[in-house]
Amino acid sequence: MFVLLLALLQAFVAHAEVPTATLPGWVITELPTAIGDDAAAITRGDHDASFLSHPGNAVRAVPDAPLWFRLRFDADWTSSEPPVLVVRNAGYGHVTLYAPPDYRAQSLWLTKPDPQARFSRHAMAFMLPAGLRADQSLYLRFDRVRVERKPVVAVTDMASYQAADLRHVRVVTLFSATQLTMVLVGLCLWLALRDRVYALFVAYSGLQLVYLLLVSGEFYDLPLGVLPDLLGQRASWILAMLSATLSISFILEFCQLPRETPRSATVLGAMRWPYMVALFALVVPVDWPARDIAMPPLANLMLLIGALIATVVVAYAALHRNRAAMFFLVAWMPQVVFTALRVTQLILHLPQPTWLEYGFPFTTSFSSVIVVLGLADATLRARRERDVAKRLAEYDGLTGVLNRRAISRCLENQFAEATALKQPLALLFVDLDHFKAINDRHGHLIGDHCLKAVADTLADELQDGEYFGRYGGEEFLAVLPGATHAEAIATGERLRKRVEHLSIETDGVRLHLTASIGVAGLLAGADSPDKLVERADAALYRAKAEGRNRVCTHAPLAATGRA
Ligand code: GH3
Ligand code: MG
Ligand code: MG
Repeated sequence: MFVLLLALLQAFVAHAEVPTATLPGWVITELPTAIGDDAAAITRGDHDASFLSHPGNAVRAVPDAPLWFRLRFDADWTSSEPPVLVVRNAGYGHVTLYAPPDYRAQSLWLTKPDPQARFSRHAMAFMLPAGLRADQSLYLRFDRVRVERKPVVAVTDMASYQAADLRHVRVVTLFSATQLTMVLVGLCLWLALRDRVYALFVAYSGLQLVYLLLVSGEFYDLPLGVLPDLLGQRASWILAMLSATLSISFILEFCQLPRETPRSATVLGAMRWPYMVALFALVVPVDWPARDIAMPPLANLMLLIGALIATVVVAYAALHRNRAAMFFLVAWMPQVVFTALRVTQLILHLPQPTWLEYGFPFTTSFSSVIVVLGLADATLRARRERDVAKRLAEYDGLTGVLNRRAISRCLENQFAEATALKQPLALLFVDLDHFKAINDRHGHLIGDHCLKAVADTLADELQDGEYFGRYGGEEFLAVLPGATHAEAIATGERLRKRVEHLSIETDGVRLHLTASIGVAGLLAGADSPDKLVERADAALYRAKAEGRNRVCTHAPLAATGRA
């Protein structure tokens, strides 16, 4: 699946590369830092003789010292589209361009709001005057460029750059909108269900969204965009550490690791400590130059180790049939692979290929979608468990009809309703005849089988709106709302006949049963559900006394059925 994803991504971003038209070539040369930083003198051309040729387009970076470069075309620019100078990978530094005719300074920053921005922020792009000649120089000044960064300079024409930039914006918008949607879904679920796991999801995936927007630069144009610039480069490390800590808490909770695999949960949980120490080191307002140099490789290494431990722990849980862990593994793997590739690229100071630039937001949003699916799956399982628990609490385990508590509650409700509406209500008390003998002769298992067969038959005989439940042993209650005395007796008679005609075949034995039924109806005046049961029980007692297999009511002389 992952290979397929990678292939899709490659096909997707292939279009985002800047197409190479036949444009003039260009040469970039570097001014030795010893010459100084006098912009007026440099842009006048006073030091042109001192510029040294520079291998490739990567710009060497020296911390804290501004660097000057000169760029010249090897032929006049004749295209009707103006040229665009593109600087990539300048990170948190800033670039100033001095271009003819007036050599006025134009600065671009990744991290500063730019209300007049013409292009997206994944590169710093300067529009150059059309008609630049080969004998004209452009000067570039780089400030605050980090040592391990290697900014890359390129020249293209306006039409190609805009087309590529638009594709970039589409890709970034797609991924960040997906991520935002998942965060909002998590937020809604959290507000509705108040489960901590959703809050953790919202927190870590929300931070990932901010991180995505910071990396692409779009965050700086948002209302709070100036905040991360105050922290500079540290902002993204703070986000990464915070998001890593929260994602571990999320994994532990989502996969229920402390309950299912406690020892590996302890190992994973402990990984949060180094992150929190790093977080503390990042936020203490002490000027500590070593921090800015030591932190990037150290933090990258910690993230890499944390990701590996999390992967092993979650894979172990998934092997132990932990369903949430399986979901998380699918969500997590592409992201871990891309994070590992990105960190390796950063540690080895390699240039970032386009598929890797987009791979990170792509896998982040993919992961969020799968995790939301996993959360929905967990909610579904919880609902099923609740339904099963509810069923177990209301239904009799052997016969599947309502249990004593449920049928008694049902009687209470119907009693209250009938009393309030002054409508009739009847109760049938059913007891199987000589059932002990069935058990004694054929054994308890066959007795159970008979109980289930009788319960199924009687429940089937009753109509919608009538209730049937097991009161205990081989005794059942039927609650008949709206039934008059005569209707209740008729129903009792139907039930009695169904039992009488029931032929239960089990283990090659054919069994016949009979039942005695006591009928009671609501009385005017002081009545209660308990009294109703008592009267039905008394009627049943009479049916037994009068010879069984018959229906009796609490009023004498109202017996029906066969002697
Ligand atoms: P009668 O009601 O006609 O007076 O006789 P009886 O044999 O049915 O009377 P009694 O109420 O004394 O016995 C009920 C028997 O029901 C006792 C017990 O063995 C059996 N019984 C109760 N619950 C279960 C059950 O869940 N499974 C089985 N197999 N038998 C049960
Ligand atoms: Mg009985
Ligand atoms: Mg009994």
